[in-house]
Order: sequence, then C-alpha cells, then structure tokens
Amino acid sequence: MSNSYDVQQTAVIGAGTMGRGIVISLAQAGLAVRWLDNDAKATAAGLEMLAQHWAQQVAKGRLDQTQADACLARVQPASAYAELAEVDLVIEAVYENLALKQEIFRTLDSTLNAGAILASNTSALDIDAIAGVTGRPAQVLGLHFFSPAHVMKLLEIVRGRDTAPAVLEAAQALGRRLGKEVVVAGNCPGFIGNRMLATYVAEARKLLLEGATAQQVDQALQAFGFAMGPFRMYDVVGIDLEWRARQLAGQGMEAALVQVDNALCAQGRFGQKVGVGYYRYAPGSREAQHDPEVDAMVIQIAQDLGVRRRVIDAEEIRERCLLALVNEGAKILEEGIADCSEDIDRVYRFGYGFPAEVGGPMRWADTQGLGALLARLERLQGLFGEHWRAAGLLLRLASEGKSLADVRGGRP
Ligand code: NAD
Repeated sequence: MSNSYDVQQTAVIGAGTMGRGIVISLAQAGLAVRWLDNDAKATAAGLEMLAQHWAQQVAKGRLDQTQADACLARVQPASAYAELAEVDLVIEAVYENLALKQEIFRTLDSTLNAGAILASNTSALDIDAIAGVTGRPAQVLGLHFFSPAHVMKLLEIVRGRDTAPAVLEAAQALGRRLGKEVVVAGNCPGFIGNRMLATYVAEARKLLLEGATAQQVDQALQAFGFAMGPFRMYDVVGIDLEWRARQLAGQGMEAALVQVDNALCAQGRFGQKVGVGYYRYAPGSREAQHDPEVDAMVIQIAQDLGVRRRVIDAEEIRERCLLALVNEGAKILEEGIADCSEDIDRVYRFGYGFPAEVGGPMRWADTQGLGALLARLERLQGLFGEHWRAAGLLLRLASEGKSLADVRGGRP
C-alpha cells in the first residue's frame, strides 16, 4: 500500500440530491466518475439532470460545448460494484442510516483495490462505526458536502480515529481541486457544523413552542445577517429528511421538539419542493409566505405539550440562538474536534450562511467579551436550565483574559 494517494478515478454511490451535486463537482474538476445507485432509474434521472445542468452552463456562457461534453463523458453509470474495482476514491451518499452505510462499506472493502480511499457523505453518523466494518479503517473518512454540493463552498473532512495522515492530505488536496473551502473536523455526532446546528435549531424550535412564529424567528436571525433563518432553511433542505432518518432509525419521534416537524411531515408539508412547509410558496416561486395554518398547528401542539406561550422579542431569539452556537462551538474547540476557532467560523460562513462581515460565531463571541458572555450564559441557565451551563473552555479563557482565537488543538 502506498503512502501517498493520487486521486484520478472516483466513484459515487447514490444518485439522490447529494450524489448528483458531488458527481457534478468531481466531473467539473476533471475527475472520472463511476456512478452507482441500487435504483437504476435514479442513475438514469441523475444523468439526465447532469446533461441539463451542463447545457445550462453552456447557455450562460460559463462552459463551452466541448467542455460540457467532456464533463458528461467523464461520468459513467455502473450497475455492479465490480465495475468500481479500479477507482482511487469512492464517496458514498445513500440514505442517512448506519446499517445501510455499513453494508455498503463492507461491499466496497471487498471489491475495491486495497489502495482505494472510502469516504462517506454522512451528515452526522459515526465515521469509526463505518470504518470498523472494513479491513482498511486508515483509508476511511467523512467527506461532508453541503447541498447543493456543486454550489456550496464548504467541504467538512471528517477524521476518524484511524484515518491515516496521508489519506487526510489526499482528501484536502481533492477538496482544493474541487474549489472548496476545506475544514478538517474530528469525529462526533454532527461533526462541527451539524453538532452546533442541533443546539441552534433546538432553541429555534423551543422559541416556536414558547410563543414565537417561524417568521419571527427567521426575521430576527436574518436581521442579524444570516442568509436564511432556521425554518426557511428547513423548507429549502426538506423537513422530511430528518423525519425519515428518525423513522429509519426507529428513534427520536417522541421528542417534544420535533412534534411540529412530525405534524408538518404527516401532512406532506415537506418544504419548498412541494410548495408547503413552515411557509407557503406560490407555484414556481421561492418566496416564503407566512402561513396562519402553521401558526394554528404550533399553538395546538404547544397546548398539547403543556407549554405556556408568551410574547417573545427579536432580541431573545438572537440571544438564545447565537449563544447556543457559541457554547457548543466552545465545547467542540475544547474537545479538539476543531483545531481552531477560525475553522469553526469558516464552517459557519461557507456552509451555514453566517454573515461574513461578523466573521463567524466564535469571532462574534470574542467581540462580545468572554466575561460578559459568561454572565449572559449564566442568566439563561437560571431561566431555562442546565443545558445552558457554560463550556469549561469559556470559563478558563475568561479567567485568563484570553479569547477563543488563542486556542489551538483544544489548548489555549
Ligand atoms: P436522497 O434520498 O436524495 O438520495 C439517496 C440515494 O441513495 C437514492 O437515489 C437511493 O436510491 C440511493 N440508495 C439507497 N440505498 C442504496 C443502496 N443500497 N445502494 C445504492 N444506492 C442506494 O439523499 P441525499 O439527500 O442525497 O442524502 C444522501 C446522504 O448525504 C445522506 O447520508 C445525508 O445525510 C447526506 N447529506 C445530505 C444533505 C442534504 O442537504 N440533502 C447534506 C449533506 C449531507
């Protein structure tokens, strides 16, 4: 087995939303791609979509016809794993389910050349649990693209316990070749971006039940500078993705905080793609319109859950959502999941629409002053409970007069 990896031949497993964007990104960077989905119709529809994409690029003058033809020619559908045997790197992008991904990695491990790198585009699953079913855990890692994968700048590279440094280097080189902002993250549920997002979204969902509307929450955060508030983001991404993952995993359906999402999905309100979600969309339009039906649904669910509703202002929305990001970000830094605060900020700027002029949640926290920030967290802890307990790192930095930007590899 060599110590350096030259990635030229690639494969993608899964021809859904992410698989399509990843294939476009690879082919546009000049890489050959074998494309496999267990549903042949999905690959055929994917190829059709790719042809349309590149035709549009030609129409817009971004590519000439020869370049577009070359992109399309680099993508070859495959109907069996044996056809992928010679590739240097494979990216799996099937449904978010650990058992399914493990089954695919077992097959990949037994069919692909010993030198091939095996990557998963999982949003949150344990990379070590995936690597563990293969005989080559040093060559397994996460390549977490964002949707749409050919447009979004961020590539979060997830380092497993056993991922070899040369494999990480090859992944970083690939990311740069694709024109991505590359950030290396450690392995934990949700990595950097989605682990922080979970705390931010949990606050947004609580605020909704406690008295805010989806529109108020989104407007408060958009006024801060976010490209999109959390509920508009769910409408764009598809509310059903997490709902289906909960159903597949057979857990998490009962949690109070997902009852609104469950109710929306039960009515087929999956988001923008079907014209209704947290908002309503006119046919062919992406403009999110307030929907009183959703307000009524939220009020009913809050009542069923025994949550007392009150008037909530924009200031409280921003305080709770931003401090949730900051406190979780500090834990991530403390655990060495991120190497430095700027890596976290890049994840948020390039993957989550955080306002570039503010820099990112960690830089924002530093400008607030960590002493003052701790007092604000303490206040929230008194009002809303233990989950607001400040990260140990914040306490340590504040007492030493240092900032989050001073931390490297978990150490100030
Ligand atoms: P999707 O439902 O759009 O596509 C999944 C594809 O996998 C389908 O075409 C399906 O036919 C195929 N598939 C299912 N089982 C298979 C098997 N055994 N062998 C081969 N193909 C199989 O899903 P998606 O949104 O593209 O998500 C794919 C992965 O990317 C998930 O792990 C998800 O968490 C992750 N992800 C999604 C997003 C997003 O915004 N959609 C963002 C980042 C990461």
